[in-house]
Amino acid sequence: MSNTTTLDTSKTKDSDTNQKELVNMTIKQVISKIEQQYSHQPEFIQAVKEVMETLEPTVEKHPEFVKAKIYERIVEPDRAVSFRVPWVDDKGEVQVNRGWRIEFNSAIGPYKGGLRFHPSVNESIIKFLGFEQIFKNSLTTLPMGGGKGGSDFDPKGKSDNEVMRFAQAFMRELYRHIGPDTDVPAGDIGVGGREIGYMFGYYKKLRNEHTGVLTGKGINWGGSLIRPEATGYGSVYFAQEMLATRNDSLKDKVAIVSGSGNVAQFTAEKVTQLGGKVIGLSDSSGTIIDEDGINPEKLEYVMNLKNVKRGRINEYAAKYGCKFFPGKGIWDVLRENNIKCDAAFPSATQNEISKENAESLIKNGCFCISEGANMPSTPEAIEVYQKAKILYGPGKAANAGGVAVSGLEMSQNSLRLSWTREEVDQKLQKIMKDIHSACLDASKNYATEGDYVSGANIAGFLKVAKSMVDLGVV
Ligand code: NDP
Repeated sequence: MSNTTTLDTSKTKDSDTNQKELVNMTIKQVISKIEQQYSHQPEFIQAVKEVMETLEPTVEKHPEFVKAKIYERIVEPDRAVSFRVPWVDDKGEVQVNRGWRIEFNSAIGPYKGGLRFHPSVNESIIKFLGFEQIFKNSLTTLPMGGGKGGSDFDPKGKSDNEVMRFAQAFMRELYRHIGPDTDVPAGDIGVGGREIGYMFGYYKKLRNEHTGVLTGKGINWGGSLIRPEATGYGSVYFAQEMLATRNDSLKDKVAIVSGSGNVAQFTAEKVTQLGGKVIGLSDSSGTIIDEDGINPEKLEYVMNLKNVKRGRINEYAAKYGCKFFPGKGIWDVLRENNIKCDAAFPSATQNEISKENAESLIKNGCFCISEGANMPSTPEAIEVYQKAKILYGPGKAANAGGVAVSGLEMSQNSLRLSWTREEVDQKLQKIMKDIHSACLDASKNYATEGDYVSGANIAGFLKVAKSMVDLGVV
């Protein structure tokens, strides 16, 4: 009897060791292959590592994923289209840009994800965004696969006519790859209502059909109420949910929001509506700190400045007499001037917050970070948050409200119905609540309870991975 017991224990130990090795090998091999194959794509590698390292517990619990090589398959896009975008500027000169659409994964629905127009855009950036989008879209509970696209075109300083001619040239190629049941792009950095309008108009012309092929459309031609607000509002709703786990709220909290574009504007609006005070905003020309708070009247000025006048944030400082730090990123300004805040909403771009900036945020009292932007914190900054055990909502969960309402826009287009502001906002709030719970549940069942990073990755991954197994080797 005792012999049998001894034998069993050693067998268990052996199989435990084998299991651990299998986990290590699977994840390590995937990361190492990506590092070698795509060494010129640092942002993509960063995103893959961040997700893969947290998926270790799923390897142990789901041998069917290992057998079907889900980990190897999910890091390779279904297809990546790259194309030339020639257009004519106002002087009559021909300009040439590059365009991309990366269709990453359609296991749970048509590809869905924004288009970014910014001079920094390259294949690495679009791949990192497309990869993240798979898990984010899965978290929304809506049937959307992951994709992303864009161009190195810079809309800044261009006339409306130039933006239109570029958008039409971009769509002249993109139209053959997208469709309401195939791939449905939306906006992102540098792509707002104006750009979506020009692209939608041209798609309609080329295809002779008025369908829900893009989201973020204008309200008169198929758009959804609350879509412009959705990412910013959603990120604040996510912060609210995190704060509620500590019986706290945004009331009377001092907040910092980076950027001053679409996501930043509606983040600032919702924080203010919930009783918080936003004291900082930025753009690529610098940072403003307004200790009196950016109240609704001042925010309206910002919206007009950025969306209509297309001006720079220093004009705010000139008008309201607050501090302006030219050429400085907002997180550097906080660190160098020891500015205190309770909550931070990075809402501009990737890798904005370095380790030093993260340390300084925490030293100066910040205990809640909700990411409106995609991957705005470096891996080292995330480690700092996790060590300090502050509330940290990673982008793929916290900013999923935008794509969620894009999904609702697709539903309304299919139904040929429009829901009211209140209806869409209620659905958005419920989705953000559900995403928060899904992250917490997954963190409890698979990793460390309350770790939203692992929770978001695992919850988003499981649905896609199970679907991929069901759909066979495709
Ligand atoms: P916008 O173009 O409307 O605004 C971007 C803002 O960030 C601008 O103020 C811009 O400054 C600033 N910014 C952009 N790049 C840089 C840079 N390299 N350095 C300094 N500042 C920069 O974009 P969105 O608000 O739509 O997007 C912001 C973030 O949110 C992105 O990470 C995007 O991927 C993410 N996101 C957006 C969603 C959406 O629905 N729009 C959905 C989910 C995530 P300037 O005006 O000077 O260029």
